[in-house]
Amino acid sequence: HLARPTGGGFAIYMGGLEQEYTRRLALMGDLHRAITENELRLFCQPKVDIATRAFTGAEALVRWEHPQHGLIATAEFVKLAEQAGTITPLTHWMLEAAFSQGYAWQEAGTARTLAVNLSVHDLYSPGLVDRIAGLFTTWGLSSDLIQFELTESALMTDPELAQQTLARLKDLGVTLVIDDFGTGYSGLSYLQRLPVDGIKIDQSFVMPLVTNADSEVIVRSTIELGHNLGLQVVAEGVESRAVWERLAMLGCDAAQGYLIAKPLPAERLPEWEREWALV
Ligand code: C2E
Ligand code: MG
Ligand code: MG
Ligand code: MG
Repeated sequence: HLARPTGGGFAIYMGGLEQEYTRRLALMGDLHRAITENELRLFCQPKVDIATRAFTGAEALVRWEHPQHGLIATAEFVKLAEQAGTITPLTHWMLEAAFSQGYAWQEAGTARTLAVNLSVHDLYSPGLVDRIAGLFTTWGLSSDLIQFELTESALMTDPELAQQTLARLKDLGVTLVIDDFGTGYSGLSYLQRLPVDGIKIDQSFVMPLVTNADSEVIVRSTIELGHNLGLQVVAEGVESRAVWERLAMLGCDAAQGYLIAKPLPAERLPEWEREWALV
């Protein structure tokens, strides 16, 4: 259960801009501490192949277990960290955690991909690719076990530079996926030039797939577009059987969402896998 931070220096009950500012400042200070005090957690959300139901990989999602405030909403503190320009330490923490987890899977012989989200700041930070290359060397991890998700809007912030960074990442042998696809207004010609392997259709189109005709048109044409460009198409936010069936009919490759599994600590994945095999 996600709790919004209350009490202490957060004071959200007071409302108003000044209080909001104070709350954000406190949260930022806390986030810095969260990293040094080891309060961040790596959660994994499985991604499955729609045709075969096979578990092919997971997305790495950060969680923050605050000692006083409990679990803090990820979208909120990630956005805050991005705005404050302090996402870099969080990204570094996440990369370490993801490589460590990937290594454990590789050692156990249950090799599957783990997808790490990179933020707009990471994409344009000069040291990122070297850091990632260093992690591959340190952990001795096979490059096809790590994916990166980059949001369409982050790529569009500086399309030229993004293209260069993606090309350098691609040289490491990793898989690249455009996240939240459909929300970032990238042009067709740009998409064609990007060295990516897949797209993830944003959940805002996937959730209303069977109830809204416009969503159906968007999802259908996105799948077609992706396939015409030779890309793997993943749907995020799959919450119902009906949406799953429709995606299968439309030829979507893979699915992620609460219907399949919520984000879980890695050690709970085997239990989920047993249940998934039975459904
Ligand atoms: P995202 O990369 O698009 O991740 C998908 C989000 O949708 C996750 O939220 C996930 O828990 C949620 N979700 C998945 N399936 C369903 C579903 O069926 N229904 C609904 N309602 N939601 C679903 P989360 O974990 O709160 O993360 C929010 C965003 O924060 C992520 O969006 C991602 O952009 C960012 N984020 C999370 N972890 C990291 C990280 O380590 N680094 C960076 N840079 N960003 C991160
Ligand atoms: Mg993502
Ligand atoms: Mg996404
Ligand atoms: Mg999304």
